[in-house]
Amino acid sequence: MLIGGLQKFSLINYPKKAAAVIFTQGCSFLCHYCHNPELVIKDEFNTPLNEEDIFSFLEKRQNQLDAVVISGGEPTLQNNLIDFIKKIKKLNFLVKLDTNGINPNVIKNLLDLKLLDYIAMDLKAPLEKYPKVTNKDFSSEGIEESIKIIISSNIDYEFRSTLVKNLHEKEDIEKMALSIKNAKLYILQKFVSKVTLNPTYSKKKAFSDEDMLDMKKSALTHVKKCFIR
Ligand code: SF4
Repeated sequence: MLIGGLQKFSLINYPKKAAAVIFTQGCSFLCHYCHNPELVIKDEFNTPLNEEDIFSFLEKRQNQLDAVVISGGEPTLQNNLIDFIKKIKKLNFLVKLDTNGINPNVIKNLLDLKLLDYIAMDLKAPLEKYPKVTNKDFSSEGIEESIKIIISSNIDYEFRSTLVKNLHEKEDIEKMALSIKNAKLYILQKFVSKVTLNPTYSKKKAFSDEDMLDMKKSALTHVKKCFIR
């Protein structure tokens, strides 16, 4: 595992649980608005953290933490993700995976092995607009497959979209919600201007509160619950 960071305590990354968050290095996308370029661009990677140190930290926190969140970058690109999660489960932690959905087979394997308790999948754009938003040319078939696998799983999950004005249009949201039709939970996140992978995006504007509410309303025509975060 290439691990670029460890957040030792978080109350906002796993719903209603105290969690540690592990950030893996490497991603399949180059989203313009990405807030973690140091986990995406190889030249910006820090020296990876030592896995043994992570496990000795987790062993000591078994009584204080409920869960471990594996985030990125894109965790499903890591070669030994399955064994890594097996070791975390042996310590009796709940495990949440944050993914961009690029590797449906890895998600399916993890679910079949009952190694996940929660999945959060980023929905970047309407499917035909993925290359524009992710800054990568690729077919969206894998994304569609991951959506199906997650919706038909029997664990808790959420889809979430970070919305950037002028990269996304208000009309995109209904199409995005339609692509995850009947999903249990869809979260709309307002873009926050700070460090971004494409520096010109750090000055981009967020949608207004009113626009966010309109988009929530249109998302709710297709999904069961929708929140603004
Ligand atoms: S925002 Fe995009 S580029 Fe950044 S980690 Fe997520 S999927 Fe990768």
